[in-house]
Amino acid sequence: MRSDQNISNVHYRPMRSHYISDAVKLEEGAEVTVAGWLHEIRDIKKIVFAVLRDRSGMMQITAKRGAVADEIVDLLIQPKETVVSVTGKIVKGKGAKAGVELIPSKVEVLGKVYGKVPFDVADKEKIPELDVRLDNRHIDLRRPEIQAIFRVRGTVQQAFREYLLGKGFEEIVPTAIVGAATEGGAELFPIVYFEKEAFLAQSPQLYKQMAVMGGMDKIFMQCLVYRAEPHATTAHLNEAYQMDIEMGFADDNDVMDVEEAVLIHILKSVAEKRKPELEMLKSVVNVPTTVPRFTYSQLIEKLQANGEKIEWGDDFSRAHEKLMGELIGSEAYFITKWPTKLRAFYSMPSKENVEICNAFDLIYRGLEISSGAQRIHDPELLAQQIRNRGLDPENFEFYIRAFKSGAPPHAGWSIGAERITMKICSLDNIRETTLFPRDRMRLSP
Ligand code: ATP
Ligand code: MG
Repeated sequence: MRSDQNISNVHYRPMRSHYISDAVKLEEGAEVTVAGWLHEIRDIKKIVFAVLRDRSGMMQITAKRGAVADEIVDLLIQPKETVVSVTGKIVKGKGAKAGVELIPSKVEVLGKVYGKVPFDVADKEKIPELDVRLDNRHIDLRRPEIQAIFRVRGTVQQAFREYLLGKGFEEIVPTAIVGAATEGGAELFPIVYFEKEAFLAQSPQLYKQMAVMGGMDKIFMQCLVYRAEPHATTAHLNEAYQMDIEMGFADDNDVMDVEEAVLIHILKSVAEKRKPELEMLKSVVNVPTTVPRFTYSQLIEKLQANGEKIEWGDDFSRAHEKLMGELIGSEAYFITKWPTKLRAFYSMPSKENVEICNAFDLIYRGLEISSGAQRIHDPELLAQQIRNRGLDPENFEFYIRAFKSGAPPHAGWSIGAERITMKICSLDNIRETTLFPRDRMRLSP
């Protein structure tokens, strides 16, 4: 059942008088019209039992021949998943599962089933493979535990926005079409843009930095990003949704303070507002009071002390990220002060040691859910860093020129909405958290 209290506050000339979750709370004898899908139907001749499902829950409809006119009983006998509206009286008794049933006085078929429904929504034993489910997402979504994932994700995104608005951040929308690669990467989807070469944006990086350069120095955004990475893992999509901030007059520690508070607010909101959904998903959300920070070097030492074969300068594997969480004893932690060569060229080198930079990752339940950094705001240092990597600053002129007209120190981060939702819901495949995932193989529906 949904945990929203205000589910029925909005009625646009409704075809129903109540959602099921509200109808079942009414007094005995109340007249209602409910509408949804036939989840179950059982015809034992003298009596027909149906279970109606809407987005709020399920309710039994009981039609006893003799007590209910035959034409109404007959109309109720439809294939599962037929869309119907039923008007009737609420009866409270021990007969129905929830102790409430509806005795119909009118049945209307609103949407027929033609042929065979691809799989049985009500069968909890025979759940098809993920691929079959995704091919039929409109059926898959009818299962309450699948809707639960998207309600959790909605709450994650709402909590992100609500926290930042409350702290004086302003929302912006970047573009998704770019003429050049922001990160200089090859993993871009080219598109046809009139007679020009263009790509889908792999990150809103430069755009959020430009908003800060323009004087909007506390901004956030949510946007789709596109990465033409050919890998097929359970933690990568080719189209992902990022939740980003960028802050002027700030460094890595300042934006980690914000990220720590945002993460705690997100987890708290989900734990409070999505209890039934979490229960359905068999996941428990713990709300931390702090998110500890460890430098890259400290964590390398921890791993080495634990017998892991890893050297300073190596990147951590997924297994390391998981193990470090166990060693630290925290579901969420930051990895700070990375080797410069492991991070994007625009990461600010640390004042004390240029081999180390002010970049960080946030790990939650053994997975990187976010990356961030203080950015280089000096165009000469930026060109130098590009040259240090054996690249030609000429090719990055579009990026470098943005910092030539007065750029404040600034920093930001990005959380992957699907990754955080996946971990909150204790799911093992990121595809579960996006309605219509895009991966190497999947381009439909
Ligand atoms: P990874 O190393 O795990 O591939 P990344 O470091 O390349 O990720 P970033 O560029 O740091 O990713 O992107 C910021 C955040 O966006 C990541 O921390 C992650 O939560 C999310 N993200 C990045 N790439 C993907 C992807 N392909 N699919 C889903 N989410 C992603
Ligand atoms: Mg990253």
